[in-house]
Amino acid sequence: MNVVIIGAGIMGTTFATLAKELAPDLDITILERLDKAGAGNSSAFWNAGTGHEANCELNYTPVDEEVISVEKALKIHAQFNVAKQFWAYLLDKGVVKDPKTFINQTRHCTIVSESSIEELRLRFKEMSAHHFFEHMRYSEDFDEIKSWIPYTMEERPRHEKMAATVIETGTDVNFGALTEYMAAYAVNKLGVKIEYGTHVKRVHRSPTGRWLIEAVTNGTPVQHRADVLFVGAGGGAFPLLKKSHLPFRNRFAGFPVGGRFLKASITEEQAQKYRAKTYGKAKVGAPPMSVPHLDLRVVDGKHYLLFGPFASFKPVLEKGRGFFDYLSSIRLHDLPGLLNVALEHFPLVKYLVSETFKGEKSMLEELESFAPGLSKKFDWKPIEAGQRVQIIKDGDLQMGTEILVSQDKTYGTLLGASPGASVSPEVMLRCLEQLLPAIFSREDALEKRNRIFPEDDLNTLINQPDRYREIRDAVNEKLGITQPGPE
Ligand SMILES: Cc1cc2nc3c(=O)[nH]c(=O)nc-3n(C[C@H](O)[C@H](O)[C@H](O)COP(=O)(O)OP(=O)(O)OC[C@H]3O[C@@H](n4cnc5c(N)ncnc54)[C@H](O)[C@@H]3O)c2cc1C
Repeated sequence: MNVVIIGAGIMGTTFATLAKELAPDLDITILERLDKAGAGNSSAFWNAGTGHEANCELNYTPVDEEVISVEKALKIHAQFNVAKQFWAYLLDKGVVKDPKTFINQTRHCTIVSESSIEELRLRFKEMSAHHFFEHMRYSEDFDEIKSWIPYTMEERPRHEKMAATVIETGTDVNFGALTEYMAAYAVNKLGVKIEYGTHVKRVHRSPTGRWLIEAVTNGTPVQHRADVLFVGAGGGAFPLLKKSHLPFRNRFAGFPVGGRFLKASITEEQAQKYRAKTYGKAKVGAPPMSVPHLDLRVVDGKHYLLFGPFASFKPVLEKGRGFFDYLSSIRLHDLPGLLNVALEHFPLVKYLVSETFKGEKSMLEELESFAPGLSKKFDWKPIEAGQRVQIIKDGDLQMGTEILVSQDKTYGTLLGASPGASVSPEVMLRCLEQLLPAIFSREDALEKRNRIFPEDDLNTLINQPDRYREIRDAVNEKLGITQPGPE
């Protein structure tokens, strides 16, 4: 059976690697617009590199009238644990020699000011009662918080009342480097083919029932055929779905959100001093993906601080692509849905438009209120982040991701942006289960699956503390993540 994957980002590359590990006889080709793998949203500075496991992101634990919901946080934490199992397997196989070249331990902290202390206290109480977050600590003590995240506290007036939580075993992940490792392994050891510089323009069913893929490689029109197609093309998945003639295509449209970060180079010593990712609280009306955070980043052995993201209204499908591409993905029947989103989410649209015109000075002011004194301490430069295309489904805006699989199981795609790269192995495993179910009836594939994922059942991880701890400790050891002992 031949499988074509569109997009060599972390999703498409993980899909290909997993599929070939489980079913080596599959014939897999990836078609990629750019000239290397992981060069889109997955590349290091197009995203924030947070290994999302709900340690510190308040938007994963929504509060409604003093009742906090932790379900989403539990799911994401379990998914990240499954992701770490896959990455630990890649280390075992020698795909990656040194885990530090893609994953580095950082504290995951949340910091809030006086008006949100009650919420953080409640979050801590609920979360630390679960085995996933049993090592979470909470403090309202200025000096203790300063010892966790010095750059946010050093020049803050002592009278400002703050509260924070910390988990020591969080991570910074270079998803671009990880994707490149996987792509090299998939090509050199598993026999996956990757055609770079190939922009897929349209996919449709041929009279024989196979997928016909029309693309342009370096200016020349080319055609590929596939029994099964997986579109892991980020924002580029929307126009392909629209042109596919699949019955569910009309239910979906894309809502693009651009972003920028402030970035500064720091020394290894400064990185050692901070070694954290600190998440704050989003402003009223701001989308969940614009929660401010100050992140240590480790990329190619160098150290950086990243602050942001500053979301913006940018009507393109992917960074580097034009407005026309986005426009051509909109159909007449999408207009009522888009209008509905604009009206129903007017504060969000207003927020995005106002953020679009924010200059460097305002960005630095925002950094200054998050971490007093920091804007002058380092040489900050604004950089453009990747582009998120959120899902509009049946006229409603959604913030998560969705796997879509055609009824005949020959077309699968991933739409949406978040929590994204962090949970990619788990999401791609589910996608494979839906798209290529026959693989999972084979003895050898099941045995391999158990080796790659000793425990991929999210409910088991959520409900069986001992099983979770056994897996957590084993994968953390391989990935170089350690829980410090009691002081
Ligand atoms: C500002 C920002 C911050 C983020 N922060 C985090 C974070 O901290 N942690 C986290 O886990 N996630 C984060 N994410 C999300 C994460 O970046 C994505 O979930 C992840 O990179 C998606 O991977 P992908 O493979 O789907 O997309 P991509 O990496 O964008 O890959 C898609 C590939 O498809 C190719 N392509 C597109 N269209 C075509 C076509 N027609 N023909 C051929 N090729 C095509 C593209 O060139 C690209 O290489 C963030 C995203 C953004 C934008």
